[in-house]
Amino acid sequence: MTSLKIPVIDVHSDNFVELWPSMLLALKTSTFIAVDTELSGLGSRKSLLNQCVEERYKAICLAARTRSVLSLGIACFKALPEKGEDAYLCQIYNLTLLCMEDYTIEPQSVQFLVQHGFDFNKQYSQGIPYHKGNDKEDERRLQSVRTLFLELLRAQKPLILHNGLIDLVFLYQCFYAQLPDKMMNFIADLSEMFPAGIYDTKYASEFETRFVASYLEYAYKKCKRENSKLMDSSSGHLVMEFCHYPAAMSAYVDYRLCSLPDPVAADPATETPHICERFSAYGWCTNGLKCTQSHNIDLIIEEDEKCKEAKKKRRRKRKKVSEAPMEMESEPPSKQNCGVLLSSSKTEASESMMTNDVDCQVGEDQDGASELPVSVPEETPAPVSEEPTPILQGSADGPKPSSSEGGTHRAGFDAFMTGYIMAYVWMLKKEKGSDSSASCCLSDCLNKIYLSGKNVPLQIVKSVFSKSSRAHVQKMRLVASVGS
Ligand SMILES: [Zn+2]
Repeated sequence: MTSLKIPVIDVHSDNFVELWPSMLLALKTSTFIAVDTELSGLGSRKSLLNQCVEERYKAICLAARTRSVLSLGIACFKALPEKGEDAYLCQIYNLTLLCMEDYTIEPQSVQFLVQHGFDFNKQYSQGIPYHKGNDKEDERRLQSVRTLFLELLRAQKPLILHNGLIDLVFLYQCFYAQLPDKMMNFIADLSEMFPAGIYDTKYASEFETRFVASYLEYAYKKCKRENSKLMDSSSGHLVMEFCHYPAAMSAYVDYRLCSLPDPVAADPATETPHICERFSAYGWCTNGLKCTQSHNIDLIIEEDEKCKEAKKKRRRKRKKVSEAPMEMESEPPSKQNCGVLLSSSKTEASESMMTNDVDCQVGEDQDGASELPVSVPEETPAPVSEEPTPILQGSADGPKPSSSEGGTHRAGFDAFMTGYIMAYVWMLKKEKGSDSSASCCLSDCLNKIYLSGKNVPLQIVKSVFSKSSRAHVQKMRLVASVGS
């Protein structure tokens, strides 16, 4: 079994000042930076998935004004050209935060977080305090999460997110300034805040790598599997390195065990557990920890790979017989096209859940009364982070969540997974592209943010008609002057 221990630095109010210089250095010297947030809730699912994107923006703004960021994950990836074309040094930080203003907590979100290892005692005793909205005074000299966010902007590195619209809106409201009322202005602001570009790995997973599922842990594990195949065939592959932290810091470092499983089907004596189809497609299932079917993502990926093989064979056969036209490739592949896996036991209800546009019907027939995460297909923003990724749950097949695989530092580890996916996609694009310049390979995903239930992304481009917001213009002056 290939095993990898991934260090996540646990940042809280007692060590924030001490770790400040190393965080700043990591930001400044990185090649790109991946970020993830954990939130206290999201409010009405129905409006978050409104067909109209402007309405969606308004709903996320409302959530960001009334809810808060509970933890922030930052993963800095620094290219190591001397170690190989696709080698990186990763430094991963998980910041436990505490919003000092009143905010709404959704019981279901708290339940979900507790189930996945979030420590509320720690949040209230050691959370790094912050306030939302505009600066209160000259905050430049303070060492706070808000100034750390300014340093992130100042570093001018590509920002990597997974399903990033919600993260962006919350980051803006919680650590930057009051959100502008119009999405147009928000987008104009973003384009200036992140001149090196924003990349969304959910968009990249669906439209570039064309994985059959795109939730974070699926995409990560899929990339990791493909990468280890490349490694075995001595082809170019991703290499991730981590710091060896000095003893003085070891108290703050948590190691997350991250292993490639042995092939599951290798032993015919062990019965393959039945895979939960909902979870398989969305990384999210109504039964959560109580589900009796398997949520094991390694198993799920293996099933998908078998399914893909079978489909290929059938297609070849069909082609021979009727010379059928090539299948349309404009839409990302998804599991509803995957007959083998779903045909046997799919109920009508789950079938309707599998279609993309159903996202937007959720709640309509439920009158918004049910904001339980229970009624939400995973494609939609789920209760806490937009991608609940319970790892190896307590179902019959897998071990109970342990501290190494569980959720204590989810934001940090999720940020790492996000950056890993991006590095992998870039490597693939580089190989495919006949032009060897890196910039052309990156441009396909540049500034395209995934929109749930839509086939087009949200583009972060400043239009000639849109003005930046006033609060933003003031902040950008600070960005230019920080530390000077
Ligand atoms: Zn399930």
